[in-house]
Amino acid sequence: MRVSLRDSLILDDKMTEKDDADLLNNVVSLESMRARRKGLGSQEPTKAHDDPQPTAESALEPIPGILTWLRCPTCESLEYTEIEMKGRRRHKCGTIVDEAEVALDVRAEYTLTKINLERIDLLAEYLDSQRRLFQEYERRLEIIAGEVPEPYALTGDPMKTLLVKNVDPLGLLISAALHDPASRFKDDDDG
Ligand SMILES: [Zn+2]
Repeated sequence: MRVSLRDSLILDDKMTEKDDADLLNNVVSLESMRARRKGLGSQEPTKAHDDPQPTAESALEPIPGILTWLRCPTCESLEYTEIEMKGRRRHKCGTIVDEAEVALDVRAEYTLTKINLERIDLLAEYLDSQRRLFQEYERRLEIIAGEVPEPYALTGDPMKTLLVKNVDPLGLLISAALHDPASRFKDDDDG
């Protein structure tokens, strides 16, 4: 369902609710979008690699397991299998494959996978949101210009030549004009 506020980069008198402000700020903040989602709890994938130790309060035991990487020296293919097997395996080409077993905590791998799948969902949602926002921004800019502007020919690093304020999690270049509009209103602190 399309909601006008979702598609608008322009603040109006309806843009007073915090939820709407957060939505606007999603132009530059994936984390605010993450916070709006239900069911994510307190998981922080961005910090996961900083603290690989299992949480002390976890009552769950590691689940030991084996993943086996298989490399075919003929095809130079790489794949993995969860199936343990005595003896050598042959690739579909007939060559005996090289094998490398990896010991796993299956629960840790599973937890990471769930986090990644959640993050993919979040990024997909964020991607859709950013597409709508920039399609709308393109339209508004054409109105401001009174024409369809010809973009600059990019000869250098757009980070330096086009006043890019930051790069979002999708790699989108966010201009200073779009970055953190709430900060332009000192009395509008949401704290
Ligand atoms: Zn092969």
